[in-house]
Amino acid sequence: MHQEETQQTVVSFIKVLTAERRDPYAWGDMFPSCHPFLEEHHSPINLDHQMIRNESLGPLHLEGFDAIQTGHWTLKNDGHSVILQVGSGMSVSGGGLPDVYHTIQLHFHWGGPATNGSEHTVDRRRYPMEMHIVNMKSIHPNLTAALDDPTGLAVLGFFIDVVYAENLHFGHISQKLSSVAYKGQTTKVKPFPLMSLLPKHNMSQYYRYYGSLTTPPCSRVVVWTLYEVPIYISWSQLAQFTSQIFSTEEDAEQVTPLQNNFRHIHPTFSRIVSVSKDAKLLSGTAGSSLSSAVLLHLLQILLLGCLISEL
Ligand SMILES: [Zn+2]
Repeated sequence: MHQEETQQTVVSFIKVLTAERRDPYAWGDMFPSCHPFLEEHHSPINLDHQMIRNESLGPLHLEGFDAIQTGHWTLKNDGHSVILQVGSGMSVSGGGLPDVYHTIQLHFHWGGPATNGSEHTVDRRRYPMEMHIVNMKSIHPNLTAALDDPTGLAVLGFFIDVVYAENLHFGHISQKLSSVAYKGQTTKVKPFPLMSLLPKHNMSQYYRYYGSLTTPPCSRVVVWTLYEVPIYISWSQLAQFTSQIFSTEEDAEQVTPLQNNFRHIHPTFSRIVSVSKDAKLLSGTAGSSLSSAVLLHLLQILLLGCLISEL
């Protein structure tokens, strides 16, 4: 009897947990470290022109990203995202990272059929999707140890924008999505050079800040590198994420599409967001606000001219 009660408690706890995973605002109830009022330095954030350029931030060294690994990778639907678990042999370092980090997986965040779903925003603009390559500091034997280190993880974030042309390299993943439509499903993926997914000519343009995981337990252990130039995919490749992935299991009574799996924006507080040596956005943003100021000034002169001519 006692054992039954315990089992029921565990089942109801899991049900609450599953329901709450869909609502980032409720995560703090189950995971105190997700509560934004108790913990500062959360992710994601909005990137604006308040960033500071750091001339010492050059390109990161992406070891093994050009190679084709042996064996196979695993694509998985965990009910919250689609995750590509890669084999060992890839790592990231340099570019101001405090250590060497081993690449463990990449995953995606997206919106719905008519809404964007990147986690980070640029001048409040949300991109259609965002890809995160998760890397763990090489000195740690496992993720539990890395989550105790303020710089235990290095995540490379890439915005994903949409064009008409198919992205053939992205097809390595999007073509396999139908095999992981439902929560808990996995499929094998033939390894491919990870670099082929990335905007390889613009890898020295990025932003850097210290933040958190964007899913429970929301640990503040992430050195974020957000690349300025997006990855481009086609409308149909985007639709495969927004319309054909479900957060429920295949035999569930009610099927729920997996959509809007991004966490809300958090304040930067006292954090410094750095801009790499080659990043362009800072000057671009300043340029656009400057040009609107110039336009306003010209308009004032014109109006004044009209008024004077009428006098
Ligand atoms: Zn993520």
